[in-house]
Amino acid sequence: MSKKVMIVTGGSRGIGAEIAKLGALDGYAVCISYLRNKAAADAVVDGITQAGGEAIAIVADMAVESDILHLFQTVDQKFGTLTALVNNAGILEKQMRVDQMDAARMQRIFTTNILGSFLCAREAVKRMSTLHGGSGGAIVNISSVAARTGGPGEYVDYAASKGAIDTLTIGLAKEVATEGIRVNAVRPGVIYTEIHASGGEPGRVDRVKSNVPMQRGGEANEVAQAVLWLLSDKASYTTGSLLDVTGGR
Ligand code: NDP
Repeated sequence: MSKKVMIVTGGSRGIGAEIAKLGALDGYAVCISYLRNKAAADAVVDGITQAGGEAIAIVADMAVESDILHLFQTVDQKFGTLTALVNNAGILEKQMRVDQMDAARMQRIFTTNILGSFLCAREAVKRMSTLHGGSGGAIVNISSVAARTGGPGEYVDYAASKGAIDTLTIGLAKEVATEGIRVNAVRPGVIYTEIHASGGEPGRVDRVKSNVPMQRGGEANEVAQAVLWLLSDKASYTTGSLLDVTGGR
């Protein structure tokens, strides 16, 4: 059986770290990327290798194309042919109305959340597509329930960037459907991670959980389980789907 190789962007913390750990348990050689938290990324890699898995961490800013090219080239050299990409890295900024947002903030959000995912998807397609001599693979993009709700009064910029992720997922899935590549998205609801602190409200999950039919926030592992299913052959007829992991929200 050929080697399974996965890139998880933003794998140093939160949802990405859980995807990396589950991926390694599922037999993938895992490359996580991170931006600032080298110590956290190293801890994820150490945890995986101590459990007998294979992992590396590469610093790569999703807003910088040359960093993304370096990330993929390093994986080519260290692990060989890529079979799975999880576009997980994403940012949220302090909650505010649109009339208070400046262009620089909108640019940061869109560059990291959508341009980074787009460039990573492009690099993955170059490696996976049977059109380019590849053997296929799977891509999962991490969107958000905000793509549907719109984040009014809090972060319409972030929600719009996630709406773009959904559209990228649907379009790319169709484009490469006959080339051995499946493309899907997972749309988490409110999940207990540090992203809410950067949104200016560390306790946000507990504040909004009354809006969740299951009356609780989600755990990063519950999102990771959905991602691993979409990457696996069990989802062999699933492409272009947007899977909500929201406790029913
Ligand atoms: P965290 O803030 O916990 O982790 C974010 C990760 O992304 C970190 O690994 C961080 O690296 C990395 N990162 C941030 N900016 C960049 C960048 N410019 N380049 C490369 N890596 C970067 O977030 P979550 O785990 O909560 O979120 C993961 C994904 O899930 C995001 O796309 C988010 O939008 C989405 N999501 C999360 C929800 C939630 O409630 N938590 C709900 C819906 C969607 P470092 O550690 O180095 O900073």
